[in-house]
Amino acid sequence: MSVLGTESRPLRVAIVGAGPSGFYVADSLFRAKIPVVVDAFDRLPTPYGLLRGGVAPDHQQMKTVGKYYEKVALTPGFSFFGNVKVGQDLTVEELKLHYDAVVFTCGAETDRRLGIEGEDLPGSETATAFVGWYNGHPDHQAHSFDLNAERIVIIGQGNVAIDVARILAKTPAELKVSDITEHALHALAKSRVKEIVLVGRRGPVQSAFTELEIKELGELEDCDIFVNPADIELNAASQQELDEPSNNKARKNVAVLREFAPRPLHGKSKKIVVKYFASPVAILGNGKVESIVVEKNRLEGEAGNQKAVGTGETETLSCQMVLRSVGYKGVSIPGVPFEERKGVFPNQGGRITENGAVVPGLYCSGWIKRGPSGVLGSNKPDGAATVEALLADMAHLTPCVNPHTESVLSLLSSRHVAVVSFDDWKKLDAEELRRGVELGKPREKFTHIVDMLAFLGKPVSSEVAYVSK
Ligand code: NAP
Repeated sequence: MSVLGTESRPLRVAIVGAGPSGFYVADSLFRAKIPVVVDAFDRLPTPYGLLRGGVAPDHQQMKTVGKYYEKVALTPGFSFFGNVKVGQDLTVEELKLHYDAVVFTCGAETDRRLGIEGEDLPGSETATAFVGWYNGHPDHQAHSFDLNAERIVIIGQGNVAIDVARILAKTPAELKVSDITEHALHALAKSRVKEIVLVGRRGPVQSAFTELEIKELGELEDCDIFVNPADIELNAASQQELDEPSNNKARKNVAVLREFAPRPLHGKSKKIVVKYFASPVAILGNGKVESIVVEKNRLEGEAGNQKAVGTGETETLSCQMVLRSVGYKGVSIPGVPFEERKGVFPNQGGRITENGAVVPGLYCSGWIKRGPSGVLGSNKPDGAATVEALLADMAHLTPCVNPHTESVLSLLSSRHVAVVSFDDWKKLDAEELRRGVELGKPREKFTHIVDMLAFLGKPVSSEVAYVSK
């Protein structure tokens, strides 16, 4: 029997999802210094996942980590196969025939639901769709947002909510230096938004955002920030949480909020209100969003574990759009066990399990492993841990029966899948940068899969054309 991880039989690993987590897994595999073939599949023709489609377009500094991922991609043994949807174009069973191990790093593609009346009214949107729209994600280009709204309520106070509020509040001049799509830039320039309310169900100490992000909201050119001083008075348990030596995040956040609270409004065109202790109860409107009812909360429970409990007192905020930003959720892939409630693949330290038993050869890392938490860099140790488990198992893995990438490519070709390689991506990348230079911005993205394939001179199947329109 072949010994995996040797010159005569390199370990063959398929990565499903070429976002940050996928690249950290690949990086850890190469660092193991064993002969290894790493083939990374992504349903989009472009690599980098949330770095491209999630990270805010005005946070260009964060995007520099893409250079690191590119270095991994250029490592001998690595291949990128974009525009391949695992579970549709290629089954997991087929991957298992061609790879000794499959690592799923497919992230969390959908949103958690609020489960309240009116959640699906036109004008009640998810942050995922809005972020995808302004970031040029092909899934969200057909979506239109009513930016005639004068007041927009954002539910949730994580960094995604902050990103969305900031993008809505920035002036065209502030946005111009970002890689926001021209389409979104023009739509936002015409927006009539005057007030953006960020609603949190708990208090300032429990805010999910981080210091740098909340601070930015106080530095906007034409947008005031408003924090009600009464909202930053702490109960005893919150004070205890704040005094906890390890809770630097809360201390930094509260310091910023305390600096915001006494600030006078400067009569700027827009205003962001950071509102605490309120949970959405219902979204109301006749055919579209007209208001949201929130219930006032108090905190109950021990320090570190305080929950928002409704007081029964409600308030109706008139608004024309609601953006739900209460966390992402993973989606299932046929052939892989899935934990519906949490939206993750059940696993033990990255080894995928079914009914508590490890499924040999299947692994996961990133948000599909641990849920949607942490910053991009959090996926590095997570990926390293999954790879450590995989390498520890290597001697017991059943070698795949068909250890040939060409055979996978033939299968895809027989199914008329237009596979996009890393070289192809570099052509798209160069074109996006060129278009960016013309427009005086870092990059102008391709936003439709059909356009990417057409630019690369690849056949566009009718199905792809249909999905992307
Ligand atoms: P998140 O940080 O988990 O925040 C979710 C927010 O939704 C919290 O305020 C949470 O409140 C609230 N929430 C959840 N369920 C709710 C409900 N039923 N009703 C009302 N509020 C509810 O999620 P995220 O903002 O989507 O971010 C995901 C991850 O990406 C985070 O780790 C984030 O830091 C990261 N990220 C980082 C950056 C950056 O570094 N700049 C940018 C974007 C995202 P509770 O606390 O009460 O549950």
